[in-house]
Amino acid sequence: MLTASRRWRRDGKSIGLVPTMGALHAGHLSLVERARLENELVVVSVFVNPIQFGPNEDLERYPRDWNHDFKMLEAAEVDAVYRPSVMAMYPPEASTRVRVGGLTDTLEGAARPGHFEGVATVVTKLFAAVEPDRAYFGQKDAQQAAVVNRLSRDLDLGVEIRVVPTVREPDGLALSSRNVYLSAEERHAALAISAALREAAGAYASGERDQARLRARLAARLALEPLVKPEYAELVDPATFRKPGTLAVIAAKVGKTRLIDNHDLEKPFPG
Ligand code: AMP
Repeated sequence: MLTASRRWRRDGKSIGLVPTMGALHAGHLSLVERARLENELVVVSVFVNPIQFGPNEDLERYPRDWNHDFKMLEAAEVDAVYRPSVMAMYPPEASTRVRVGGLTDTLEGAARPGHFEGVATVVTKLFAAVEPDRAYFGQKDAQQAAVVNRLSRDLDLGVEIRVVPTVREPDGLALSSRNVYLSAEERHAALAISAALREAAGAYASGERDQARLRARLAARLALEPLVKPEYAELVDPATFRKPGTLAVIAAKVGKTRLIDNHDLEKPFPG
């Protein structure tokens, strides 16, 4: 990988990087397509990053299917795949972590201590290995994209961060590698998350601006599904991830599966 991207860089070719944890789906592919439009070469990394999982999270059971991923990447005609081992990324003597301040205090940062430090560290390493011009992240993980954007600017990494819209199932559920954990009943209940975002966007479009009432709408829709246990359902500023704002953000457990989704109420909800 190092050799390939150094050679490409020497040849003056632009490189777009799509970082993933594998278990690829159409959401990942939309990042690849966008990268393809804007770069001569597209690199996808596939690495289940252990340091961004908390001790009680799903690192062990996180879906891994290299045969499936390889076929998707081959069909998408990506130019290279970077798939390092955990030992190569984190040899026992490694002791450096990258921490982004401010943005990481709320929401996912508060709910998952250490998560964004794991993300910032791995992204810094991926950028160092691949030396991309641009890197592509999904709006589904909006706070992550903002953290990485801050990281690239603060450390002068010189990588342009591009955020790509969330790809959804026809019924509204945001695609996620974790959706495979859901039973049929949970899959149905999980629709409450996108439905809550859609309803809040509808209310906002009809002129509702009261933060408490918009938040109550999110909560009321989620409460219709007993299988859905919200961790947060808030309205935050899309730049700072602090209240108040127009970005509706939800994290909820559906059975044992933790799902997140978001939508900026200033935009119509798709579909
Ligand atoms: P992951 O493999 O889940 O870590 O995701 C890798 C990248 O794909 C991240 O930038 C995610 O935000 C993005 N992504 C995941 N799901 C979607 C989706 N449904 N639509 C668009 N991007 C997504």
